[in-house]
Amino acid sequence: MLRSSLQQAVKSTVQQPSLRDAQFDVDINEPPPMQTPESVKPFSNSGACAPIPVQRLQLVGRVDNIEVFVDMQAFNNVPMLPTEYQPMLPLFIQVLRVLSTRVFQLDAGALHVFVDRDSPIIAFNRGRALFFNLRFFVALGHADVVGGNSSASHIAGLTQADVYAYWFMTFCHELAHHFVHAHDAAHGFYMSAFAEEYMSKLIKLFRK
Ligand SMILES: [Zn+2]
Repeated sequence: MLRSSLQQAVKSTVQQPSLRDAQFDVDINEPPPMQTPESVKPFSNSGACAPIPVQRLQLVGRVDNIEVFVDMQAFNNVPMLPTEYQPMLPLFIQVLRVLSTRVFQLDAGALHVFVDRDSPIIAFNRGRALFFNLRFFVALGHADVVGGNSSASHIAGLTQADVYAYWFMTFCHELAHHFVHAHDAAHGFYMSAFAEEYMSKLIKLFRK
């Protein structure tokens, strides 16, 4: 039962409506949370993992069908990916694509990348569309690891498996928000359930 609920939830992840669609600005298209099994009580929403307001996100490109946004407020309303992030973007897309297609069997079109200046937001889930912050991928040294820049001192000991494990858990965290908005016991339950369900596929990526 739980397994099919989880798989259904992954499949229900969507590509967000175009930002040019005025209707999207009022955020009325957000579907209600999925029905939770009776054994799990509904919890109230919280502001944590809060999506960046849609008005601030500007679509600046699309790589392999994954849309890329910048937080306009953070970058003086310049509608382009800051140049320091441009070489890192394909590396992040690569990690997200591998996780979406080979682990979660999720259309990469349901994924979105964004970059901001200093929020604590690693990723967020808006109406079952998943957004991942490129800034964290770079700041955590993951771009260096995936790009093969092993001389960078701050990534000593970090491997590709660590990078994939990190973003795998971020996927699980955000997919759990398909069921529960808050960060509570129910969210923890679903995050663990997603991890258990898809972990073996993650491990297969690194089996020789
Ligand atoms: Zn969250």
